[in-house]
Amino acid sequence: MQRIYVDIDDVLSQTALAFTRILEESFGKRVGLEEITSFDLSVSFDLGPEELDAFMLEAHRPERLMEIEPMEGAVPVLDRWSERGWLIDVLTGRPPASTEVTRAWLDRHLVPHRELFFVDKYTRYDEAAWDGHGRVLQLEELHGDRYDLVVEDSLKTASYLAENTTARILLVDKPWNRDVSALPQPTVARLERCRDWTEIATFVP
Ligand SMILES: [Mg+2]
Repeated sequence: MQRIYVDIDDVLSQTALAFTRILEESFGKRVGLEEITSFDLSVSFDLGPEELDAFMLEAHRPERLMEIEPMEGAVPVLDRWSERGWLIDVLTGRPPASTEVTRAWLDRHLVPHRELFFVDKYTRYDEAAWDGHGRVLQLEELHGDRYDLVVEDSLKTASYLAENTTARILLVDKPWNRDVSALPQPTVARLERCRDWTEIATFVP
């Protein structure tokens, strides 16, 4: 039995693609997926602080989150893992206010999972974020051997988990996670880079 950690945005869902569409519609800016070389959207989308706030507000509207397309091949692979009796938890760094729509999206696309957890992956939340939306997990709570396999696209989160857990770390290759020059070599060595879900499936026997 394997215990699996799966991220949502740009692992289960084509979030960056949806975001570039919103950027074009709402801000008249065209940015290609390959140009998103920074996880920081103020950099990749060249937005000032107020523009970024407005963009994030628009991008996190429930209708917007709901229309994001699933990543090709993800659900069939998770179905196979689930049929083997493996436990799949979905762990997202989204704002906890998106709990309801995130659950609805996972249901709509029949994503097999045991639990959905909101994790403070980017140290964004203070106590206020806990208010009314249940508890947000801290990264420290994932230390150790809670999961056997992690599927992430955030370099920061993946490298943190590589350094603090025993899980195998599959890093879904994206333009924003390719620069690993700031990481220690043993951490980089723990990251298994995969192109897509077809490749992820072949990585896991
Ligand atoms: Mg992600």
